[in-house]
Amino acid sequence: MNKIQMVDLKGQYESIKETVNNSIQEVLDTTTYINGPQVHSFQKNLEDYLDCKHVIPCANGTDALQIAMMGLGLQPGDEVITADFTFAATVEVIALLQLTPVLVDVEPDTFNISIEAIKKAITPKTKAIVPVHLFGQAADMEEIMALAKEHNLYVIEDNAQAIGANYKYADGSKKKAGVIGHVASTSFFPSKNLGCYGDGGAIFTNDDALAHTLRGIVNHGMYVRYHHDVVGVNSRLDSIQAAVLNAKLPHLDNYNKARQEAAAKYTNALSNHPNIVTPFVKGDTDSHVFHQYTLRIVNANRDGLMQHLLEKGIPCAIYYPIPLHSQKAYADSRYNESDFPVTNQLVKEVISLPMHTELDDEQIAFITGSILEFLK
Ligand SMILES: *Cc1c(COP(=O)(O)O)cnc(C)c1O
Repeated sequence: MNKIQMVDLKGQYESIKETVNNSIQEVLDTTTYINGPQVHSFQKNLEDYLDCKHVIPCANGTDALQIAMMGLGLQPGDEVITADFTFAATVEVIALLQLTPVLVDVEPDTFNISIEAIKKAITPKTKAIVPVHLFGQAADMEEIMALAKEHNLYVIEDNAQAIGANYKYADGSKKKAGVIGHVASTSFFPSKNLGCYGDGGAIFTNDDALAHTLRGIVNHGMYVRYHHDVVGVNSRLDSIQAAVLNAKLPHLDNYNKARQEAAAKYTNALSNHPNIVTPFVKGDTDSHVFHQYTLRIVNANRDGLMQHLLEKGIPCAIYYPIPLHSQKAYADSRYNESDFPVTNQLVKEVISLPMHTELDDEQIAFITGSILEFLK
């Protein structure tokens, strides 16, 4: 059996080596390292893929979130509601911009932001909601957009983990995650579903005026060269990274399919065990792109299981071990532990298994067999 990786970037690279290498070579030959034609073609290709009017490439997913918030003109003291159970980047940029983060609890089945919790957190100072499409499945966007409309709020989708996922509306129609809110951010960090070979990110919006504002902000606030109309940042996607992404984007649907197939095999082997809760997929199978495959281990020794798997050479991880409201940087005396029953429970129960495009049946059988052997 091949050694099991949490994320197998090498195996995936081997299968597209020639295209990627040629694509990178083109950049080296033309030396347009910044803002080269590869960046523009990737922008266009991603707009077509997402069915989105504007993609604004930038340096990473954290910048993408920050720039989206700057573009919306959010002001210090504005309250921004986001999920307690996510990667810290989401709350970090809210705090950096001196906005007031308001962390709320999540749903126990999807791990996504709770609509009821959002409702309770809205105040006259609330200006935006940042749903995070955690582990590859979109939050309840239809309900979130309705709430946003009612209270006149912006919705910024953190789509770093769900690129390519379809969101299904109650009437059965579908849209890609990331083109539902007013603006969205994504990350091309190497291990993301669409990853480059370094840092990269992008902002999506269908709003022409906002897109124009964002394009200036990513480039020092310039709309005309050396005329700085707004305070901006330097956040660009390198041409070499765009070249890698152009080579990989045509494979994204197949990559996500490979993840969905691996997930189905995991679930098939694990779903009948009383101590295991397998991931809940809310819409059709295309609605979850399994950035992570995350189990809940209930009434059993999750940490012991993790140790057991690591000893057998099976990588696994806890995403995320500490609720954001309990992190030193984001603690706030306004929070009560009783506001976060689900997150507080999830951090004790979740475990993420190896998930990537190159998992084979033998590896999956070994992983699931090892889990069942420990839990009996
Ligand atoms: C990865 C990630 C980010 C940050 O992306 P970077 O490109 O690493 O800055 C933000 N939010 C979520 C939910 C992520 O998973």
